[in-house]
Amino acid sequence: MTAIVEAHGLVKRYNGTLAVAGVDLAIGEGEIFGLVGPNGAGKTTMLRMLATLLEPTSGDAEIAGASIRRNPQAVRRVIGFMPDAFGVYDDMKVWEYLDFFGRCYGLGPAQRKRMIGDLLELVDLAAKRDAYVLSLSRGMQQRLCLAHALVHDPQVLLLDEPASGLDPRARVELRELLRELRSLGKTIVISSHILPELEELCTSVAIVDRGRVLASGTISDIGQRLRVGEVLRIKVLGDEDRVEAARAWFEGRSDVASASRDGSGEIEIGFRGDETGAAALLAAAIRSKIPVVSYSPAATDLQELFLQVTDRDDAVADGTQA
Ligand code: ADP
Repeated sequence: MTAIVEAHGLVKRYNGTLAVAGVDLAIGEGEIFGLVGPNGAGKTTMLRMLATLLEPTSGDAEIAGASIRRNPQAVRRVIGFMPDAFGVYDDMKVWEYLDFFGRCYGLGPAQRKRMIGDLLELVDLAAKRDAYVLSLSRGMQQRLCLAHALVHDPQVLLLDEPASGLDPRARVELRELLRELRSLGKTIVISSHILPELEELCTSVAIVDRGRVLASGTISDIGQRLRVGEVLRIKVLGDEDRVEAARAWFEGRSDVASASRDGSGEIEIGFRGDETGAAALLAAAIRSKIPVVSYSPAATDLQELFLQVTDRDDAVADGTQA
C-alpha cells in the first residue's frame, strides 16, 4: 500500500484538554477512510490538523509527501477540506460561489468557467447554477460545499461529518458522489459518528475515542483481531426440546466457548476454531443426528466492533447511534 496520508504521534492540546493524544495513521491512496467515534473523540481536531488549519502540539503528518508543519502550502494544494459547518453566503448565486473560490486559487476566467461547469455537473447541481446558495436544500448545500473542496482538483479530500443533517435520500446521493470521486482517483478521509453510514462506504476505518485510535484497518481485519474466534449462527429443525438438546450438544464441545439461543430460537455459538474447525464441527453435528438447517458466521457490523473496542478501553460509547 502506498500511503498518501501518514500521521506520526499527532497530539493536540487545548489548554487543559488533550483532544488528540498521539495518533498514528497510514491511509492508502484511493481509499475511502473513515474516522469513526463518538462526539468529542477528536475527529474534527485531527482533520483540522491534517488540513493545516490547526497547528499540532507535537507530532507531524505528511500528505502526498508534504509535511503539515514544514510545508503547509504544499499540503493545501493537494487537499480539499469540507468543514462540518457550512458558512452563510448571502446574496451569492451557486456559480458565483464557485467562481469566488476559483479566484482564490488563482484560476483564470476560462479555467473557472470550465471548472464551474464540470463541478456542477459532477455534484448534480447544473440546473441550480443561477439559484441563490441560501435557497438550496441542505443536501444541495452539502454537495455545493463538496464542489468547493474540489475547485483546485485536489488528490485528497478531508470531509468532516459531511452527512450530518441530511435526510436519507440526500445521504444516499452523497455516498454515490463519494464513490464516484473515488473512481476518479481521489483519496477520501471522512469522519462520522454514524456507524452504518461508514460501514457501507469505507474501504478502511479507524475507531477513535478520547483522542486515540483504538483500532484501524478494514472492518473484517478489525473483527478478526478482536475476536478469539468466530460467532456462528445455527438453525436446527424441531421442537423446543430438540433445539435445547442441540444447544447443549454444542455447548459440550471443547471448541465451543458458549452456546445460547436468541429470540428467534436460533443457536448462537462462540467458536474457538478457524474455518476448517467450523467445517469439522458441522460434520460432527450431522453425525450426531442434529438436524441442522443453516449454519453461518454471524455478520459483524461496525456498531458491534465499535462497542467491543470502546468497552475494552472503558470508554463511553454515547453518540454512536444513527
Ligand atoms: P469530534 O470531532 O470527534 O466531536 P473534537 O475534535 O471536536 O471531537 O473535540 C475533541 C475534544 O477537544 C473535545 O473534548 C472538545 O471539547 C475539545 N475541543 C475541541 N475544540 C476545542 C477548542 N477550540 N478549545 C478547547 N477545547 C476544544
